[in-house]
Amino acid sequence: MTNAALLNGSKRLLLGTENGRTLSYGEHLDLHGPLQLPHHKGLGSWRAQLLQELETSGLTGKGGGGFSTAIKLGANSHGLRKPVMVVNIMEGEPAARKDSVLACFSPHLILDGAEVIATLVHAHSITVAIARDNPAAVASLERAVLERRGRRTSPFTISIATPPNRYVAGEESALAHWLDGQLALPTFRLHKPAKLPVGTRGAVIDNAETCADVALVARRGGAWFHQGGRNGAPGTTLVTISGAVEDDGVFEVPLGAPLSEIVALAGPSTTLTGFLLGGYGGTFVGPEALSAAYSPAGLKAIGGNVGAGVIIVLDQSVCPVAEVARITRWMANESAGQCGPCVFGLPALADEIETLAKSKGRRSDLMASIEHHLEAVDGRGACAHPDGVARMIRSALNVFRHDVDQHLAGRPCGAHGAQSVMNLPPNAEGLEWK
Ligand code: SF4
Repeated sequence: MTNAALLNGSKRLLLGTENGRTLSYGEHLDLHGPLQLPHHKGLGSWRAQLLQELETSGLTGKGGGGFSTAIKLGANSHGLRKPVMVVNIMEGEPAARKDSVLACFSPHLILDGAEVIATLVHAHSITVAIARDNPAAVASLERAVLERRGRRTSPFTISIATPPNRYVAGEESALAHWLDGQLALPTFRLHKPAKLPVGTRGAVIDNAETCADVALVARRGGAWFHQGGRNGAPGTTLVTISGAVEDDGVFEVPLGAPLSEIVALAGPSTTLTGFLLGGYGGTFVGPEALSAAYSPAGLKAIGGNVGAGVIIVLDQSVCPVAEVARITRWMANESAGQCGPCVFGLPALADEIETLAKSKGRRSDLMASIEHHLEAVDGRGACAHPDGVARMIRSALNVFRHDVDQHLAGRPCGAHGAQSVMNLPPNAEGLEWK
């Protein structure tokens, strides 16, 4: 997955990456221009101006949460002890490649954004966290950090950390735990603090694409950023399209463009049956979603979400019930093993959806048991992992109701044994969380 196209307009985040190689620091500066960070004297007014530009931009976090970047960074822009600024490139969602593609091709845009945020929040240093099984992205960032060190341009010490590659290891509290020398396990947080502790400091954690967006806003202003989107949505965004398409990959698209135009970039199958939006903890929607605007508001209106920028296309060649069974089993194996409802509930759901996919269960018993386990896991974990699985299953049972009924009646479609279109890597052997 390395291709990158753009719908109606010029590239921004992926500017200059058409030839498929990493932009050097010199090439990056030629394309984007120099980044002006303030000297000590003008720091206060620069911070106020940047927060205003971020608000005008409408930028929201691209890691899945979708929270306002201006509000988040504004809450972090004052404090007694200097925090660590953390760039999150963990991308534990196997169907997502956007942050990795950005890291491989335009690492300096991410680092620029990290320096802007670090300046804004008075950070002590910058840590770039990349899953250790992503050597291309690690090498790209390492080269980029060395280039900047050679030019002595960065006011911050930048280090690279490589936590284990688990689905939940990129969750903010799990990442902060690991950076603090503990296991990469999420923590239950009733009230989410602005900063998570790492040693004696707090950590301000931002997703890689969000950092790159901040770098664009800092250079070009909030109004320029916003007008890259459509239907009132702000800016461009990166999406990973896969499944029943001719040309899967990462695409830069205007946020708010119709889903039909975005999916068309990847050459979708002519026998579409639905989409999985957001990732494996996302939402299935039917073909009628093609007319929806691809934005948080546009997708919310049809019960979907942007999530990690994932769009998986399903067509008549695959059995949606079998695909849901595969995802559920994979997600059950990615539980961090510390909350009962998640540890016991997800494998039970995986067993039941597999029984449904094989058309083996009795209708009333099976559906009642699935509903019981969905209730038991939803909102009952320290992190949102089981909530995502419950959301994904519920949406599938709704969108593919006819297929589910056929399975319950012992009449699965001919595609129930077909090869999966999902990218589901082997789950890590054992519990590798250190
Ligand atoms: S909900 Fe599941 S994945 Fe999340 S912390 Fe608990 S056991 Fe781990």
